[in-house]
Parts: sequence; structure tokens; C-alpha cells
Amino acid sequence: MDNFTYVRATSVTNALQAIGDGSGHGNGNGHHGRFLAGGTTLVDLMRLDVLHANRLVDITSIRELQTVSTTGTTELVFGALAKMSDVAADPTLLRAYPALAESLQQAASEQLRNMATLGGNLLQRTRCEYFRGTSYPCNKRSPGSGCAALAGLNRGHAIFGGSDSCIATYPGDFAVALAAFDAQVDAVSPRGARTIPLLDLHRLPGDTPHLDTVLEPDELIVRIRVPVTPLGRASTYHKVRDRESYAFATVSSAVAILVDGGLVRDARIALGGVATKPWRAPAAERSLVGQPLTWETAYRAGTLAFDDATPRTASRFKMSLDPKSLAQALMIAKERSER
Ligand SMILES: Cc1cc2nc3c(=O)[nH]c(=O)nc-3n(C[C@H](O)[C@H](O)[C@H](O)COP(=O)(O)OP(=O)(O)OC[C@H]3O[C@@H](n4cnc5c(N)ncnc54)[C@H](O)[C@@H]3O)c2cc1C
Ligand code: SF4
Repeated sequence: MDNFTYVRATSVTNALQAIGDGSGHGNGNGHHGRFLAGGTTLVDLMRLDVLHANRLVDITSIRELQTVSTTGTTELVFGALAKMSDVAADPTLLRAYPALAESLQQAASEQLRNMATLGGNLLQRTRCEYFRGTSYPCNKRSPGSGCAALAGLNRGHAIFGGSDSCIATYPGDFAVALAAFDAQVDAVSPRGARTIPLLDLHRLPGDTPHLDTVLEPDELIVRIRVPVTPLGRASTYHKVRDRESYAFATVSSAVAILVDGGLVRDARIALGGVATKPWRAPAAERSLVGQPLTWETAYRAGTLAFDDATPRTASRFKMSLDPKSLAQALMIAKERSER
């Protein structure tokens, strides 16, 4: 590992000063200052020689980043340092927004969820094996070196949002659930504060796949906000994976519906495990509105959601698995709308 300095920040101001001091802002994997939260992604990738840092600014003592409020009348608020395990067990969330709680319950392991924070969770890096293995060409890890996955093992790679430079999937679960609820992310840097819609936080790879998000290296996520909506109650996060626990999604769907008089009045569908960033499926959402929710309408929405996917040879199996999995998620949400 590289040598780095370690600073423990006690306030947001303090953290921004410290990160500024250490930055020589390079590319997404370059040697600059980095914020350290639970460390379950950052330390892992530094040990693998994939991520580099000349300074770690430990933000875990900053109290103002730890606030969680799920009972407000206009929005839910999750401080960036809220622990995955605490939010997954929040009783209000479990009742009123099960998709959000379930996306966290089904992520990683109990031990990891006890350490890991929501801010860090949004910013986790891809699990593409070639990204994590430094002997392979990988444009995300080493810009311009090529992409070993394009002609290599790409069973788990993206069928939406890929480019000739990178087809790595975004691996997180929580961001997918947040995408279904039009969440927003508040961030602050030495240049001021800004709010970023969750769906705009992650970038498509294009020809700069080393840049995962629109955040600058010295920009700190302060909180995540979710507008209160009646769609929360009839929602679910449905995750299909190679084994039942401790695995990333092969495909996941965050769905939320509002049913009135036997007809769907509003629907939200976000997909995970299949795209280079959290992915919404607007055509599938529209197909449900004004319809009764039956297996047939749910499956049609599932088919529409994957209509314009571009699978590779090894990821072609997703085209039959994924519509079915989305339809199953919609049927779970329907059951919840009837309670
Ligand atoms: C074996 C294993 C299995 C896993 N399985 C899953 C899974 O199934 N689903 C899933 O969703 N996740 C999974 N994860 C990922 C895990 O959830 C993330 O590693 C974790 O959420 C990251 O949070 P952290 O607090 O540890 O972040 P850190 O490792 O501390 O930080 C991650 C990145 O975010 C930056 N950062 C952290 N906080 C902030 C902030 N407030 N502002 C700006 N930048 C910040 C850091 O600089 C770093 O670049 C798994 C991880 C492992 C190791
Ligand atoms: S898919 Fe992306 S992360 Fe994986 S090898 Fe190609 S460039 Fe690297």
C-alpha cells in the first residue's frame, strides 16, 4: 500500500479543510485525499492497489452526518454516516418504505452492515473482477489500458448503459431503491453546497469510466433525502443472486405502486445488477398506469423494461430471467397494496 497521512475530522468544516490540504486532484483512482467512513470499500481497494490516497480524512466522528429522520411529513433524511444496519431495522421504514429497508437488509453481511455507512454505500466501486485484479487491462482502474471484460468473462456485466470503454455494473442495492423514490443527495465542498438528484449522481462510463460519479474528490456527501410519498407502503426490493446471502445482485428491482379502485395509479421501477448505474424503467412504469395489476400486466412491464437491453454472449441469460424477476417484484408490491 502507499504511504498516506491520517486525519480525524470532528466537523464538516474540519473535514473540508483537511481534504483540501491533501488533494492533488487526479483521476477517480488517483493519489489524492479521500474521506474514510466505514472503510469496507476504501481500505479493501487500497490493499488491492486499485485505489490510491495520499491522505485519509476519517469522518466517522462528525455527529452532524449521523442524523436519521424517517417520521417527517415532507421527507425522510439519512445522514451520510447512518449505518446500513440501523437504517435496515428502522421500524417506520420497514412499515412505510419496505423497499428501502429491504435493499439494505439484502446487502452484504451483518458484520459489514454494522460498519458500513449509507454515504459510502452509494460510492462503492464495481465488483468487475478485472477492475479488482491489477494484472488485467481495465479502463476504469487504469484509463486507456483497455477493457478485459468486453471479450472476457462478462456474465455479470451491464446490459444497460455500457460503452466501448466499460460495461461494469454498478453493484450497490440501496442506490437502486433510492432511485425508485426520486431521492436527492446533499453534498458540500470548499466551493459551497449543492443538491444532486440520485439518478444524476452516478455517471455513464462513456469514454471516462474511471469517473464513477459527478462528485469532485473534495466533495463530501452530507445527507440523502427522500420525498415522502404514498407509494412507499406498497413497495419492495427484489434481489436475485447466485446464492441466497452475501452476494451482489444478478438482477434486482425496486418497485413501488399506488393502486386505487383496482387500477394502478402510479408506478416506480428501478433496476440493479444490470446497468452501469442505478436504472429507471419509465416505459415499464407507464405501461402499468390505468391497468389492473395481474401477472400478465406485470410480465408485460417486465418485458418492456428489458426491451432495449444490449446483452453480451455470457449475459444473454438475463433476458429471460430479468422480466420474470421484475414481474415477481410487482406482484409482491400488489399484495402489500391490499393490506
Ligand atoms: C464482501 C462484501 C460484500 C458486499 N455485498 C454488498 C451487497 O450485496 N450490496 C451492497 O449494496 N453492497 C455490498 N457491499 C459493499 C458495502 O455495502 C460497501 O463497502 C459499504 O456500504 C461502503 O460503506 P463504507 O462506509 O464502508 O464506505 P468507505 O469504504 O469508507 O468509503 C467508500 C467510498 O466512499 C467515499 N466516501 C465515504 N463516505 C463519504 C461521504 N460522506 N462523502 C464523500 N465520499 C465518501 C470514500 O472516500 C470511498 O471512496 C459488500 C462489500 C463487501 C466487502
Ligand atoms: S468492464 Fe469496466 S471495470 Fe471491468 S474491465 Fe472493463 S473497463 Fe474495467
